[in-house]
Amino acid sequence: MYKVEHIGIAVKDLSVSVPLYEQLLNTGCYKKEAVETEGVQTAFYQTGDSKIELLESMQSDGVIARFIDQKGEGLHHIAFEVPDIRAEMSRLKVAGFRLLSDEPKRGADNKWVCFVHPKSAGGVLVELCEEIKK
Ligand code: ZN
Repeated sequence: MYKVEHIGIAVKDLSVSVPLYEQLLNTGCYKKEAVETEGVQTAFYQTGDSKIELLESMQSDGVIARFIDQKGEGLHHIAFEVPDIRAEMSRLKVAGFRLLSDEPKRGADNKWVCFVHPKSAGGVLVELCEEIKK
């Protein structure tokens, strides 16, 4: 895998968290994007070579809402950039990791994404992402 592409952070309310993270990171949010298929609204910050992704649930029973109900706001996932997401998915499957989807999905910020179940990855929700080439 390549670098840590971004770190995902679950938040209750972007209108509160966006300015908070702007202050914390000392940089403006450069993009807000809804991912309808996942029911989340995202906000991105560039921090050097990596990014911070804030995630707010658009539905009261969405994955992010359920995460916050159980664990509160905070670290949600770590995303690694990969050159070939399908190759990486097969490598991990063969190695015994549990993937949350059989096919890459279209994620935020122009990426193909796939998640690795935290139960098979030491308690960490890992996201693979590959830039969508036009
Ligand atoms: Zn992510």
